Amino acid sequence: MTALLEVSGLTKRFGGLVAVREAAFSVNEGEVMGLLGPNGSGKTTTMNLISGSLKPDTGSVRLEGRDIAGRRPHAIARGGIARTFQLVRVIDDMSVRENVISGLAFRENPLWGVSANVEAEKLLARVGLGGRGGVFAAELTYVDQKRLELARALALSPRLLLLDEWLAGLNATELDGGIDLIHSLANEGVTILMVEHVMSAIRRLCSRCVVMNAGAVIAAGETAAVMAEPAVISAYLGD
Ligand code: ADP
Repeated sequence: MTALLEVSGLTKRFGGLVAVREAAFSVNEGEVMGLLGPNGSGKTTTMNLISGSLKPDTGSVRLEGRDIAGRRPHAIARGGIARTFQLVRVIDDMSVRENVISGLAFRENPLWGVSANVEAEKLLARVGLGGRGGVFAAELTYVDQKRLELARALALSPRLLLLDEWLAGLNATELDGGIDLIHSLANEGVTILMVEHVMSAIRRLCSRCVVMNAGAVIAAGETAAVMAEPAVISAYLGD
């Protein structure tokens, strides 16, 4: 398998605190990979370093072999890495359709006018929001706003999709629907790196996982094997 994303020697300090220390892992084309670890272990910082919201002190982030570490977020998004955020970010006073169109205008080959409308409707149907394009984003329920954020990320036609606790805060029914949606994207060939705490979701969705603790990668590999590693178990029990 080819590594689509390759992170190596990634380090980020905040003052005296090393939030991410020499992190190294790779995500293969077409896989859904989990990024796990107790609170404060460096997962969100790692996502921010990959998406360009933060610049690493040292280390590289390679997308298809090209080092993108330290580039600006919009350049990285255009280059093929889209993300969702831990706290949902939709534009409340725009329609659902316009939110998606804003993503389409942002991609490497922007779409405008009628083609953008058609593509936006397709993306909305893909995330389960078919027919909702005309309402204000603010009128959507929380889970539907999450679906909208996903549609906007997909509008970039990403090579890699970063999900930061996309399933957090959903009730049991919404969680099942959310897992099914991520599953369907994976079946369509979307490569995903997801920070997640919901273990049942990780077991169902992630073929492999990386586990961080105190800024360092402490385990990586097939999900069931990683979950059984003593270092992983004690990292979680110590949380
Ligand atoms: P996780 O996502 O695994 O919960 P984070 O990446 O958010 O962990 O945080 C890792 C560590 O870095 C934590 O100790 C956190 O307090 C610290 N940290 C994160 N962002 C900042 C920041 N902007 N300034 C200072 N410290 C930060």
